[in-house]
Amino acid sequence: MKIERIDHIGIAVESIDSWIGFYRDILGLEYTGSEVVAEQKVRVAFLTIGESRIELLEPTSPESPIAGFLEKRGAGMHHIALKVDNIEEALVRHKEAGARLIDETPRIGAHGTKIAFVHPKTSGGVLLELCQES
Ligand code: ZN
Repeated sequence: MKIERIDHIGIAVESIDSWIGFYRDILGLEYTGSEVVAEQKVRVAFLTIGESRIELLEPTSPESPIAGFLEKRGAGMHHIALKVDNIEEALVRHKEAGARLIDETPRIGAHGTKIAFVHPKTSGGVLLELCQES
């Protein structure tokens, strides 16, 4: 298993429409559109920075994990996503090492990507998302 790069940094916001202007117009990042990920009750918007991206996450329901995050901590950095070449192998390696996983098996995220979250207790307080393009 190989970590290839930081795929994106996830930022939780109350409203993508309120913040897209900063990232798109002031920073001048390329906005590649938004998508609702129904399973996670979020709308996500991606902005490209070289080989990485910023992901803005907005809750679509009060039961969304992002709604809970915003309530507890307010808007801000939510996770760092690492692109791996083999997510199943990465999860096995984490399990063998005793790492705490939020997802034992990959689920499907935005753009049909396979994703799995690693608990922040394992990684120094940062929620990590492992992702592999399908
Ligand atoms: Zn993400």
